[in-house]
Parts: sequence; C-alpha cells; structure tokens
Amino acid sequence: MIPMVNLKAQYAEIKQEVEQGLAETIANCSFILGPNVQAFEQEAAAYLGVKHAIGVASGTDALHFALLAEGIGAGDEVITTAFTFIATAEAIKYVGAIPVFVDIDPKTFNISPEAIEQAITAKTKAVMPVHLFGQPADMARIKQICDEHNLKLIEDCCQSFGASINGIQTGAIGHAGGFSFFPSKNLGAFGDGGLVVTHSDDSAAHIKRLRNHGSDVRYYHDIIGYNSRLDEMQAVILRAKLKRIDQYNQARRHVAQLYSQLLADLPLITPFEDGLGEHVYHQYTLLSDRRDDIMKALQANEISCAVYYPVPLHQQNVFKVDCADVSLPVTESVAAHCFSLPICPFLDDDTIRNITSVIRSVLTA
Ligand SMILES: *Cc1c(COP(=O)(O)O)cnc(C)c1O
Repeated sequence: MIPMVNLKAQYAEIKQEVEQGLAETIANCSFILGPNVQAFEQEAAAYLGVKHAIGVASGTDALHFALLAEGIGAGDEVITTAFTFIATAEAIKYVGAIPVFVDIDPKTFNISPEAIEQAITAKTKAVMPVHLFGQPADMARIKQICDEHNLKLIEDCCQSFGASINGIQTGAIGHAGGFSFFPSKNLGAFGDGGLVVTHSDDSAAHIKRLRNHGSDVRYYHDIIGYNSRLDEMQAVILRAKLKRIDQYNQARRHVAQLYSQLLADLPLITPFEDGLGEHVYHQYTLLSDRRDDIMKALQANEISCAVYYPVPLHQQNVFKVDCADVSLPVTESVAAHCFSLPICPFLDDDTIRNITSVIRSVLTA
C-alpha cells in the first residue's frame, strides 16, 4: 500500500542523529523543558523570523494559548474558515469565544478576505486564517482588514511550516501563530507537539506561564495554567528535521509539480497556486465530479487517498445547531468534490506516474 505520508523513508535518513540524541537525553534524564526544547525553540524562532517560539504539547494547545495571550475571551467573535480541521474552531471555543465561519476562495480553498470584511460586527475581536494544505492565505489583505478594524490576527500554521510570503514565514505576520508537530505534518514529531510564535515579549511570557501550570518560578503560581509542554524527546527529533525542512518542502513541491503536469490534460481541477506566497504542499488536493470513482480505483490499486475535509465545520454535529443559518456555498461545493493524493518528500517519480495513470484510466475509460 502506498501511504499518504512515507514516514519510514524519512526516518531512515535521520535515524543515526535521532537515536544518538535520544540516547543522550535518556542518559541525562532531563525530560521536561530540557536543553533540547530550549535549543529547538531558539532554532525555530530563528528559522521563522519571530522573536519568541514556545514549545507546547500540540497544535491545538498552540492555537488555544495564542488566543488567550491575545486576550480573546467570552462572547468575542473570531472570524475563521469552516474548511479546516476541527481544532481551529475548538481552540476558539476553549476560550469562550464564538467561531464565525465565512466562505473560502474557490481556487485556493483559503479564507476569503471579502467574506471576512462582510462578517465583521461590533463583537469581532480576531481573525484566524488557516494556511490550508500549506498555501499561505492572502495575508496582505487580511492584515490590512485587521489593522483597519483593530482586530487580532492569529494564524493557524499547523499545515504550513516553512511556507512564506515574500520571504516572511507564516506565523511571523500576525500577532501570534500556532504550529502543529503531529507526525504527518510538514515538520512532524514522533508523537504530539506544537509551537506558539509571537513578536511580543508580554504574550511570550504569558504563554510560557500557560504551558507550565501558570508558573514562572517553580511552585509559585500566578494564573491557572495547563500542563502543556513540548516533550524533550520530541524536541530531539524536531531539531533533526528542522535542519532539513527546506529540502523536505522543496521535495513536496517537486511531487506537486509532477502530479499537476501529468494530470494537466484530464477533466480535473489540480491545485491552484495564487503566487502570493510559497506553497509547501502539506496536501495535494484536487476537485473532481468523479471523486468516488477515482478513489475506488486508487484503493483497488493499493494507493492511499483521503478526503480533507468531507464535512465543513458549520455542518458538523457539534456546530450545526449554532450554525443553522450559515450557508457557505463554496466551502460546501469544495467539500463535496475534493480528494487528496499521497504526498511527502519521499515519493519517487515512478510512483507518481503510477498514481496518475490509475486516475487517467478512470477518466478516459
Ligand atoms: C493538525 C491541525 C491542527 C491541530 O494540531 P494538533 O497538533 O493535532 O493538535 C489545527 N489546525 C489545523 C489546520 C491542523 O491541520
């Protein structure tokens, strides 16, 4: 079976470095907020071009803490997309705020700046764009809207590690950004992990307290915090992969280019790059009226494929009562036609040709 992500091939390349680092950590027994977490935070901050990077237990926690640090709370409206993973909206709910779902651009699948503008009310406090599938959202326009209306801009960068706009990394544009190190993400750990980034000293200090039981000094507690630290072992793995992230993302872009080239003449919509930023292809997602036929054929040929996301958030059971009046035609249409192919830095050209020929045989039969 060809997997969506080939993590085994990636591990083979970094095995020595990772195993040595893990062995040292085990020998040192400095398991919580040890030297590797500290070093990773510095290395990630330097790479991302932010003043502060704070390791936490997951991407979901990263978004939750970013919202708390920016002062978003009960009754505040946060404008976001419904075409994303549930965690984007969960984080908004955790702080007592209200996710206001707006429609997406039909080509990039990212949140529509016009739709954001139309949804602003007196209660709006923040906008949370998602750089979906690795393509940066239209941050120039979104930032302008946030500046004009005095709104906090919090970036969901869980799928966009290494994506940039004019050399500025996603996460470094808004007031804060949250990254996920879930194993299948572009920068993935061997378990859960996350990162909050910010340029603000005050926000960074607050987030450090939040992740560690509300404490700056051990056994002195200033606020009610959480137990949400990036694990030292995960930091060892992330340091090895961070060194290679540009190479990984370049390889993903190559896979995407070859897919698009081989599929260009077929009745399908391949991913659209708007050219505003550098897409890092967390997913390679297409649209087709014959999605089910194509997916059936791929599976019969031992090729994994998946639908990200079959049910937009405003139609999920957990939100559909609150969102009874919400209609998002573009989101709903994309969710009904999208499917994603295997993509990772370790997918060879022959396998890509094999995958596209299965799709070709369905569409030209
Ligand atoms: C993965 C993901 C998250 C959540 O990250 P976890 O580390 O799994 O908590 C949030 N938002 C988006 C868009 C994601 O893809």
